[in-house]
Amino acid sequence: MEKPLSATEAALSRGGTRLVTRLIREGDRSVEVADVQARLRSLKFEIDDVTGNFGTSTKSAVRTFQQRRGILVDGIVGPHTWSQLVEASWRLGDRGLYLKQPMMRGDDVLVLQGRLNALGFDAGREDGIFGEDTATAVRAFQKEYGVAEDGIFGPTSYAALQGLRVDRPGTAALLREQLRTAGSELADAVVVIDPGHGGDDLGASGSNGLCEADICWDVAGRIASRLAMRGARVRFSRTEAEGPEPSERAHRANTLDAELFVSLHLNSHDRPAAHGASTYHFVSSGAGAALGECIQTELVKLGLLDCRNHGRSYPLLRETKMPAVIVEPAFITNPDDEKRLEDPEFRDAVAGAIARGIVRYFESS
Ligand SMILES: [Zn+2]
Repeated sequence: MEKPLSATEAALSRGGTRLVTRLIREGDRSVEVADVQARLRSLKFEIDDVTGNFGTSTKSAVRTFQQRRGILVDGIVGPHTWSQLVEASWRLGDRGLYLKQPMMRGDDVLVLQGRLNALGFDAGREDGIFGEDTATAVRAFQKEYGVAEDGIFGPTSYAALQGLRVDRPGTAALLREQLRTAGSELADAVVVIDPGHGGDDLGASGSNGLCEADICWDVAGRIASRLAMRGARVRFSRTEAEGPEPSERAHRANTLDAELFVSLHLNSHDRPAAHGASTYHFVSSGAGAALGECIQTELVKLGLLDCRNHGRSYPLLRETKMPAVIVEPAFITNPDDEKRLEDPEFRDAVAGAIARGIVRYFESS
């Protein structure tokens, strides 16, 4: 008999889910540094620094790791990089996987989703989070392959999966994403607009004192009215006084079963010269990439420098179930951009470009 729960607990105590609450960075000397190095080494990174000493070699490994994971690249291990290190160290079969709160996350979940999707069981988007779609797919898999149908992906299910050839083209998640967007129209579509920051969180600010949260809120309203005129059912991810965490924003959009999620931020940089527009989508979302491309194209037409459309694994993009983008139309740290952002006409033009991008996305899907 399989005992997935105890296997899970054993793996959890072995894997350690210690919370990193402070930043681990170059120059540090601690057991935490040794822990980070051990995890990086197990991921085949070579580190020359003395164990426990965070030197240049550790920093460059952290940077490369961050780059590969599509997260912010700063060579510093904060809570997000730490959780990615923990997720990256799970291999399929290490622990039992099942639906629980908070949901289980890791590269083992990601591999499982890929295998199940390739077999035609719809495990949902391959995001490394064991949610309801994945649980349903595990049950369907168990039923078809004669494994006790308990929704827990434990040793018996793993053995069954290992014996299978995974070669079916066109994964279910991809097909579903296509179905979801094919022929869908902006009229009646639920579009969630997510104004960045808010509440006590003002975001970045410019040298003139302009703050990101205010601009995002203003532009969000302008986009909303344009989309509403075309019949879209526009919802905001937050009220003006709130500044919810990214996961909460994603959760709200998922609860609304939105067809599209558009998050607004402004870029910032130490160098005031940095300027231009960029968009970000979840790395493995084709529809998200298409949406980002449509918006980016329209923003560049305003004369903004093209800083491109990029794939990223930010929690907001990863946890939203629908095609999602983060739009950063300008740098608030650039004095020229800041001056332009102070002008309501420019903000209106930015909102118009984003709305046109969304319309084009619906027309082309
Ligand atoms: Zn921001």
